[in-house]
Formats: sequence, structure tokens, C-alpha cells
Amino acid sequence: MSIAIKSVVSIHYTLTGEDGEELDASTDREPLVYLHGAGNIIKGLELALLDKNVGDQVQATIAPEDGYGEFISELVQHVPLSVFGDEDKPEVGMRFNAETPNGPLAVVVTAIDGDQAILNGNHPLAGKTITFDVKIEDIREATAEELTHGHPHSAGGCGHHH
Ligand code: ZN
Repeated sequence: MSIAIKSVVSIHYTLTGEDGEELDASTDREPLVYLHGAGNIIKGLELALLDKNVGDQVQATIAPEDGYGEFISELVQHVPLSVFGDEDKPEVGMRFNAETPNGPLAVVVTAIDGDQAILNGNHPLAGKTITFDVKIEDIREATAEELTHGHPHSAGGCGHHH
């Protein structure tokens, strides 16, 4: 079978950035398993894998709009250090959920500038053109339960809580 909407697909992948540096790879892990058409993976990669078959190797270069989105400067905030308690002084590289009017936002502390912390709420790959090299390991039909949940389950059934 070929990859289509409602396929559960197993892939190995290598992800490289604009300068050719390797950002991530699944090769020393279990394959990534996703439900096609459910938004489990970025749109550009779903489009590149549609209609492909087991054993196919696919290279997809993906622009930000089909990847992790454009870099949004409003998601970079300068926050006075005084708003943090003594217990949780921010340090560069620290990650936490910031409260925003739109709900919690995952941010990383990118710098401490004087008495301010600079927090970035963009995805680390926002604004970047990225390349996936993918090998398709397995394709199967999703079960009714997987379609209801919108994600694949392992062979043992739904191994997580919802
Ligand atoms: Zn589930």
C-alpha cells in the first residue's frame, strides 16, 4: 500500500538545517510512527510522503510556512528579573511555560540583559528552511481507535492515558 490519509507510517529520518548541520536523526532510535493526515508531523513532510511506498527514500526541503512557522518577533519578550521569585531565577537555556493572554506558551530563556530576561516563545526551528531525508519503514491502515485519538498506538494498544 502507499501512504494516504489514515495510514500509520513508520519512518527513519535525518533532519538537517540550512547550513547542512544535522539537527536530529532517528537512526539510533525506534522509527518515528505517525498517523498520516492528522497533523502529527509538519505539513511539508506529510505532503512529501503522500503516495510513497515502503522502502522509498524521500528528500524534502521544507520552507518555514510548511514547517515550524515563521519567526514571530512578538513572541520574544523582555521580562524584568524582578517578576521571578528568588527560588526560580532564570538562566540562559532554561525552559518553562509562561502565562500569556492566549494561554500557556513554552518559552526558552535566550539571554539575561541587565535586569531583564529575554524569553523566546518561537519553536527552535521557526523561520528556518529544513531538509528531511526519510526512509519509509512500514505502512499500515489505522485502527478505528487510532483515528478517534488522532495518533498511532503501539502494538500493545493504547499505551497512554487521555
Ligand atoms: Zn491514544
